Amino acid sequence: MEQAGQQEAEIQEFLKSVKRVFMVMSGKGGVGKSTMAAGIASALAAKGMRTGLLDIDVHGPSIARIMGLTGLALGTVNGKIQPYPYSDNLKIISMQGFLQHSDDAVIWRGPLKIGVIKQFLVDVDWGPLDALVIDSPPGTGDEPLTIAQFIPGCGAIVVTTPQGVALADVRKSLNFCRQVGMNIVGVIENMSGYVCPECGHHAAIFKTGGGEALAREFNVPFLGRMPIDPMVVCAGDDGVSAMERSIAMKAAVDEIVGNVLLDEVTEEKVAKGENKMEKIAVPVAGGMLSSHFGHCEEFLFATIEAGKIAVVENLVPPPHAPGVIPNWIADQGATVVLVGGMGEAAQQIFQSRGVAVVCGVQSGKPVDLVNQYLAKNLAVGGNSCNHDGDDHHGCGH
Ligand code: ADP
Repeated sequence: MEQAGQQEAEIQEFLKSVKRVFMVMSGKGGVGKSTMAAGIASALAAKGMRTGLLDIDVHGPSIARIMGLTGLALGTVNGKIQPYPYSDNLKIISMQGFLQHSDDAVIWRGPLKIGVIKQFLVDVDWGPLDALVIDSPPGTGDEPLTIAQFIPGCGAIVVTTPQGVALADVRKSLNFCRQVGMNIVGVIENMSGYVCPECGHHAAIFKTGGGEALAREFNVPFLGRMPIDPMVVCAGDDGVSAMERSIAMKAAVDEIVGNVLLDEVTEEKVAKGENKMEKIAVPVAGGMLSSHFGHCEEFLFATIEAGKIAVVENLVPPPHAPGVIPNWIADQGATVVLVGGMGEAAQQIFQSRGVAVVCGVQSGKPVDLVNQYLAKNLAVGGNSCNHDGDDHHGCGH
């Protein structure tokens, strides 16, 4: 307990010297998440922002390669880990810098990984930063969860490719962000068509627009798109960064950073929770959280502005029938639902409609529960969601 308190204090101290933290995420590997993280960090640095680029993918670090830093070796001075000074404004830390050989495998489990992520935040000589860009491994495992817990004001940038398989995984990432209460800065669509270097013709290899449609569906900003450019692939191997080699990459990332991210850093908008569009639904019976999701008396909908409850409405749901209530909740514009338990079918509807489900919520007054969720101290236990063979009690079917 004491150790956890000290850890938190160290992280709070570190966060005082960083204006804005972004975590770049993706639902699955190979969509260009690390390439985009490197590009965003480079573009922010080029615009004069003191930027840190932190690769927390301990199992498959790729930032060093993407930045053209083969053989990256990092060490400590006076007990502080020294980041690689890529340029005046850009410092880089990657697990790669601590491996003897570039193809060494790291086989740590959860607690060790969490320890090393914490070290990469507090034990590194970052100096004051305007922006820290974190490249997390794909998916929603220990690493992004650790960052969400350590850095509550962190903003998620979600990278996807336009095709359906990748988009399905991105839904999980967006739902994860909502479940842990992390700001979603927006979605980037990578590998969005191919621009022929000879004639400039744009071919939509995987279709385009999937990322933008998904962003619209989840009511989160669409940050921009980046086409496939063969120059990106060979850059790192030639010892230069993709940003230096690919004109298309530089143009796309400059636009993304110029349009949105620079403002985020200079105005610290998301840190203050200003761009958070949330509506939280809670099933209610007798003025308290109802454990019977499908049979509650009414739903409380709390609209959140600037991180606080702005409007509260109580609405009576339509009569109970398979799938009706989850769809009705989504139609009200809810982004999160707090419940005791919920069956698989209802969860699937919520997932496909972009509504995050927080399960295992204990009894309490709905407004108190919403406030606890916003303060990130909502107690959840006895989670009857997310289990195979779930007993389907209180479900919406
Ligand atoms: P992730 O971090 O999602 O696993 P990476 O950033 O490592 O993905 O990219 C996977 C591969 O795709 C790399 O070889 C990278 O060079 C390539 N790549 C990424 N984005 C593009 C792009 N827009 N055009 C061409 N190749 C790309």
